[in-house]
Amino acid sequence: MKKTQRSDNLKSDDSPITPFTRLLKSISSPCALYLCVSLFMGPLFFGCNAQDSEDKTDTFIHLREHMVTQHIKNRGIQDPRILKAMMAVERHKFVPEQIQSSAYGDFPLPIGEGQTISQPYIVALMTEVIKPHSSMKVLEIGTGSGYQAAVLAELCKSVYTIEIVESLGERSKKLLSDLGYDNVHVKIGDGFRGWEENAPFDAIVVTCAPSRVPQPLIDQLTDGGRMIIPVGEAGAQELVLMTKKDGELHEHAIIPVRFVPMVGSGGEMY
Ligand code: SAH
Repeated sequence: MKKTQRSDNLKSDDSPITPFTRLLKSISSPCALYLCVSLFMGPLFFGCNAQDSEDKTDTFIHLREHMVTQHIKNRGIQDPRILKAMMAVERHKFVPEQIQSSAYGDFPLPIGEGQTISQPYIVALMTEVIKPHSSMKVLEIGTGSGYQAAVLAELCKSVYTIEIVESLGERSKKLLSDLGYDNVHVKIGDGFRGWEENAPFDAIVVTCAPSRVPQPLIDQLTDGGRMIIPVGEAGAQELVLMTKKDGELHEHAIIPVRFVPMVGSGGEMY
């Protein structure tokens, strides 16, 4: 009897669902395989004893240099300021500790609550197309881990970022503040509506995908401003650059992408 009850609690692949397996299951399988290898090789790679913390920092610097050269520069992102920002932000600090050794691969990683941190190349690309500048006020929708916000904060005057999942928003708020990003303002709420009190924004970066571009975001974009946004249903999303000029909107599709959906407070998809 006991045995039957236990097997009822297992999923069809017969593996018990622990927080760790849930983490792995939340991302696609090639990525999960890479993660498994990193997780089990990570301790060997980084060494196991305490005197290694300096080596660990050096290793992360090398991994970050490799990420910037191989996955960003070699794929066409040339703006030295963006490459510098991607080099400056310590991506491993934005992912759960047990997967830090995978933080510099060019793929998304799970950050909890079924959400992901975007792949570095896409972060760099979205940053490049808004033409960041030190005088700009930027709105981000979908704070997630806070990584994209940190990259924007390296390049712009201020960043306003909205996250709908409270635990993620609170965690990122603390992390960004601990890392000294005092030009980032995090709000828990529904980003579909934008952030009216601080509008207009010189640029808007949307990191979750609605099926249509939210009108409040269009309204909150300054004239001459740029918005980068993944639009479309799961499996058919396109990264779209929108520019507002003399009150008119111009749209330019960039590449097909795969982002988590933009959802409302009741979990409904926009
Ligand atoms: N920019 C993030 C990646 C975000 S993943 C990073 O650098 O890590 C997309 C995020 O959008 C998720 O955290 C998800 O919870 C959030 N999200 C989904 N719908 C939202 C909405 N309506 N308003 C604000 N955030 C939303």
